Amino acid sequence: NDSAMQNLNKIIEDIGPLIEAMGSEIGHSIEFVLQPIPDLLVDKIDIHKVLINLVKNGFEAMDDKGKVVVSTFKEEHYIVLQVTDEGKGISKDVLEKLGTPFFTTKEKGTGLGLSVCYQIAARHNALIDIQTNTAGSTFSLKFPYKE
Ligand code: ADP
Ligand code: MG
Repeated sequence: NDSAMQNLNKIIEDIGPLIEAMGSEIGHSIEFVLQPIPDLLVDKIDIHKVLINLVKNGFEAMDDKGKVVVSTFKEEHYIVLQVTDEGKGISKDVLEKLGTPFFTTKEKGTGLGLSVCYQIAARHNALIDIQTNTAGSTFSLKFPYKE
């Protein structure tokens, strides 16, 4: 367990080069848009796992030379960590099954990435919000925050 008051932006920057390498291997790029946010009580290893899983899914959702954007920002009640891809989106029947362990639509998928993300979100009292359309998908991890 690695829980401590720390900044999501710092945690993201720590793993930035690794995430970038995951994408450049297959011709994709990544962009970080990190706004100033307050520290949160989070587990660093958990956040790394969420990021790797969401970014990997984003890269895998795109054909070639796509871009994944990782962003952080503050809302009135949440600190948000967001991963956006330029894939084809997620159909309704797939959307309903997301987070179910072992559910995958990929030939070599494990179907565990999102279920791990949901477990980690639950440990942090965070929500996962999914927006998707035919131009891509956005996964938002929303950490409750009170000023
Ligand atoms: P895996 O990646 O091993 O299939 P995940 O739990 O990470 O397992 O994802 C489960 C399924 O959710 C994927 O197989 C895919 O159908 C869908 N999915 C997840 N993220 C995305 C995304 N960004 N774009 C499109 N589909 C996605
Ligand atoms: Mg995955």
